[in-house]
Amino acid sequence: MRRPMAHSVTFIPGDGIGPEIAEATRRVLEATGVEFDWDEHPAGIDTYEAEGTPFPDRTLESVKRHGVGIKGPTTTPVGSGWRSVNVMLRKELDLYACIRPCKLYEGVRSHFAKVDVVIVRENTEDLYAGIEFERGTDENAKLRESLASLGATVRDDAGISIKPISVFGSERIVEAAFDYATRNGRRKVTAAHKANIMKFSDGLFLEVAREVAERHPEIEFEDRIIDNLCNQLVSRPEEYDVIVLPNLYGDIVSDLGAGMVGGLGLAPGGNIGTEAAMFEATHGSAPKYAGQNKANPTALMLSGVLMLRHLEEGDAADRMEAAIAEVIRTGEKVTYDLKPTRDDPTAVGTSEYADAVIAELQR
Ligand code: NAD
Repeated sequence: MRRPMAHSVTFIPGDGIGPEIAEATRRVLEATGVEFDWDEHPAGIDTYEAEGTPFPDRTLESVKRHGVGIKGPTTTPVGSGWRSVNVMLRKELDLYACIRPCKLYEGVRSHFAKVDVVIVRENTEDLYAGIEFERGTDENAKLRESLASLGATVRDDAGISIKPISVFGSERIVEAAFDYATRNGRRKVTAAHKANIMKFSDGLFLEVAREVAERHPEIEFEDRIIDNLCNQLVSRPEEYDVIVLPNLYGDIVSDLGAGMVGGLGLAPGGNIGTEAAMFEATHGSAPKYAGQNKANPTALMLSGVLMLRHLEEGDAADRMEAAIAEVIRTGEKVTYDLKPTRDDPTAVGTSEYADAVIAELQR
C-alpha cells in the first residue's frame, strides 16, 4: 500500500503551560503512526516581548498556507492595546465555527453518569461582533437619536451593544453542525435560541436552522429555548447530541459542558473556517503552572484527536482517543487534577502522562 503523504500542520506552542502540553500532544500524535510535517511558529506573550507582536505575520502565513494548525494557549494581558491572538486568528482566517466536544470519560469525577455532546458555536456575530457604543459618547447619543426617531427609547445613561445575526452567518454555522453530525455518525442536531424574545435575531437564526435541517433529513432536528436547554442539559444530558448556538449562548454552554465532563483540563476545541482550521484547548495559559511539568495536556490532546478527524485520519483518531480514555480510566498515571485530591503524591507530570498514553497506543 502506498504510504500517504505527511500532513503539513502549523504548530504553535503558545506561552505559559502551552509549550509543555503542545509538546506532549505532538509526541502522542506522532505515536499514532500518522506522518506530520510540523511547521513550528511562535505566538503569545513571550513572542510579544521578543518581537513586539504577539502574533507575527509568518505565523499567520503558515496557517494560511497549510490550512490546519494546532495551538497551545496564549496569554491575553488585561489592559488596553493588546489584541488577543485567538481573536486575531479567528478574524484573519474567518474561523466561524467553534466545535467543542464535551464527553465524560470513565474515571473522571463528575456529578453526571453520561455526557457526550458536541457544542457548535458561531464565532463571528451576535453580541460579540464588537459593535458597541459607550455611555456618554457622541456616537451613543447619535444612535439613541436614530432609535428615538424609529420609536425606540433608550435611557440616556445606557451603554449599548448591538446583536447582529445574519442569514449568511446562521446558515453556515447550522450547516457546519449538520456536516459535523454527518461525518461523525451523530444522530441529532439541536438549535438553541431565545426566539420567543429576540424575534428578529434569534428568530432569524431559528428560521434559518429549520430551513437547513430540511436539507438533512437523515439527521434528526429539534430546537430548544436557551434557558430550557441549560436546565435539560444538566438534568437529562443523554438526550442531547450536537447542539448549535449563536455566539454568546455558545460561549456559556461550552463552559457549562466543560464543567459537566470534569473541567477545563479535559475540554478540547477546534475553530473551523472554509480556508483553515485551528485546534486548541478551551483553557488558557494557566501561568502559575508554567514550566512545572504539571498541567494536564488532555484537552490539547483531544483537540489533536479532533484535528486527526478533520484530516480524515479517523482510525488514528479513534486509537488516540481510546488510549487517552484508558489512561484516564485506570487513573494511575494521570496529572494532579485527575486524582481524588489535588496534592495526591502519585500524580504524574505532563510528559509522563504523555508517555503513558503513548505506551497505551503501542500496546
Ligand atoms: P486558565 O484556563 O489559564 O486557568 C484557570 C485555572 O484552570 C488554572 O489556574 C488551573 O487551575 C486550571 N487549569 C487550566 N488549564 C489547566 C490544565 N491544562 N491542567 C491543569 N489545570 C488547568 O484561565 P485564566 O487563568 O483565566 O487565563 C490565563 C490566561 O490565558 C489569560 O491571559 C487568558 O486571557 C488566557 N486564555 C487563553 C486562551 C487561549 O489561548 N485559547 C483561552 C482562555 C484564556
